[in-house]
Amino acid sequence: MKLDKEESTVKRIHKTDHRNFPMVPRVVYGRGSFSQLADIILPMRKNSEAPFIFLVDDFFEGKQLEEQIPWLFNDQIIFISADEEPKTEQVDAIVQKLKDDFEELPSGIVGIGGGTLLDLSKAVAIMMANKGLAHQYQGWDLVQRPALYHVGVPTISGTGAEVSRTTVLSGPEKKLGINSDFTTFDQVVLDPDLTNTVPKEQWFYTGMDCFIHCIESLNGTYLNAFSQSYGEKALALCKEVFLGDLAAQESQEKLMMASWHGGMSIAYSQVGVAHAMSYGLSYVLGVKHGIGNCLVFQHLEDFYSDGVALFQQMLEKQEIDLPKEICKELSGHDFETMASIALSMEPLWENAIGKDWKEKISTEQLISIYKKI
Ligand code: NAD
Ligand code: ZN
Repeated sequence: MKLDKEESTVKRIHKTDHRNFPMVPRVVYGRGSFSQLADIILPMRKNSEAPFIFLVDDFFEGKQLEEQIPWLFNDQIIFISADEEPKTEQVDAIVQKLKDDFEELPSGIVGIGGGTLLDLSKAVAIMMANKGLAHQYQGWDLVQRPALYHVGVPTISGTGAEVSRTTVLSGPEKKLGINSDFTTFDQVVLDPDLTNTVPKEQWFYTGMDCFIHCIESLNGTYLNAFSQSYGEKALALCKEVFLGDLAAQESQEKLMMASWHGGMSIAYSQVGVAHAMSYGLSYVLGVKHGIGNCLVFQHLEDFYSDGVALFQQMLEKQEIDLPKEICKELSGHDFETMASIALSMEPLWENAIGKDWKEKISTEQLISIYKKI
């Protein structure tokens, strides 16, 4: 249809500003699909001198999965501990090692593990193709050049790091993601078998990250029909997994898909109060993401009353006792720091409460919540 001049001018004036974000272009799902990795990456091998680098959670060192990693030629497997969340300097050290070890750029990076290993792999793939140090890219859309081909293989479900366009890193000044169109994986392998060995408590904490993504997204002011459709599906799956009586395999499969949908839900919206406050806990006490979210979320009935009630039911049903008195020894200054880190996460508060959030939230209010943890 041809627009007349006046009409087309009107269209331009009303140009919208909706986000245009990338999704994972290729994904394979199914029990045993990890065995297809060799075939999947074969066409991406540039030549025998350009290796694939496998960054693998060191839980799997000496385990069966190690034998299934499809290495060839001079590929390298690097085992990495997930005891601590990823740091920018860790990314820089891996990148330097790879540059020292190989003359050619690798063909690609494969991350195998939980959110920690997935985030590290995304960041290494970006920094192998971009100048400078990782902390220079913490923020939004600072990455200039496409990352190396990178593949994500989650071994625990919940963070949504397998679908997101961010990689959360602690840097010298801040804990902040490298959010960019080049961060998202080129390929993801979803094999529920890989989650067989996850310990119960960790299963719960990382799974609750997904549940909290859903609650924060579905109750946020940024919500639109796109996010809602994913958030509602993920929430329904979480309820089946954590409140139902599913067989072990079905539960693993459903949680893996809940994680995916939960991640998709926040792509177009945002997380909220629990995540903002969990960043504060993590900064001061080094508390990890999943458990930190749980510790905060249990006290957020003023913000998410239905979600907190569901969470309490899940804790009971799964017989999880959250650690207590985590903040007992902290000083007044520590509490101030946690609150100020939390309050610096502006988009999260705006999503949770609305544009006038600064008038509705105070440092004292946050400190009183932290004191209950
Ligand atoms: P994790 O990767 O930190 O791992 C948690 C523990 O589970 C580790 O001890 C690990 O060794 C173990 N583990 C993982 N898979 C296992 C398996 N199959 N069997 C036995 N043990 C296993 O856990 P996580 O909760 O998935 O990730 C947390 C990280 O994800 C944080 O760094 C957080 O910042 C990040 N995150 C990123 C995003 C994103 O969009 N990029 C979103 C949420 C969280
Ligand atoms: Zn999260």
